[in-house]
Amino acid sequence: MDSLHPIALRDKTFVPYITQPQIETRVQQLAAALNDYYGTQTVLLMPILTGALRFVAGLLPLLEFPYELHCIQISTYATEMSAQKAPAYTLAPPCPLPGLPVLLLEDIVDTGHTLDFVIQDLLQAGETEVQCASLLFKPAAYKGAHRPRFVGFEIPNAFVVGYGLDYAQQGRHLPHLYQLAP
Ligand code: 5GP
Repeated sequence: MDSLHPIALRDKTFVPYITQPQIETRVQQLAAALNDYYGTQTVLLMPILTGALRFVAGLLPLLEFPYELHCIQISTYATEMSAQKAPAYTLAPPCPLPGLPVLLLEDIVDTGHTLDFVIQDLLQAGETEVQCASLLFKPAAYKGAHRPRFVGFEIPNAFVVGYGLDYAQQGRHLPHLYQLAP
């Protein structure tokens, strides 16, 4: 495990925020909540690439209900720390949808625009049950209409990296979550 020191990525410094053991404990609790919620139903899991991959890799072995798996990808952020353009698919959901309850798996819900975009699209395509599990949620930044039902950590409105999340494609490999230094 990397030592818990500040790290530099490109032009920014990030400080340790949530450690890998803390994340893993919380992911276990999230999995238990999902197992309770879905019971024996078959679910269509939709990880939202790319930041959610590490979260999803930890979560999948803990899920006890049957699932189908279809990754989607949405382009919103380029290399900056704020939204640059409206969300658009770079990898779209299956068409037609298989008619299963959908669980979107996100790394972080910030303004909620990305989640709103996907959920609106799925509802328009005829889905009736769409939920989201997000490792991180920023309530102070949130302006959306569809809050994630399952949240790992509510965090303040500061940019985070590590555990799969990047800053301009750097930092995804870090085992812990780091926060932009004040
Ligand atoms: P939203 O549409 O909710 O504002 O943003 C969703 C996406 O923005 C996330 O999936 C993630 O890619 C990116 N994002 C938002 N906040 C952060 C952050 O603090 N750190 C990183 N690395 N990405 C973020």
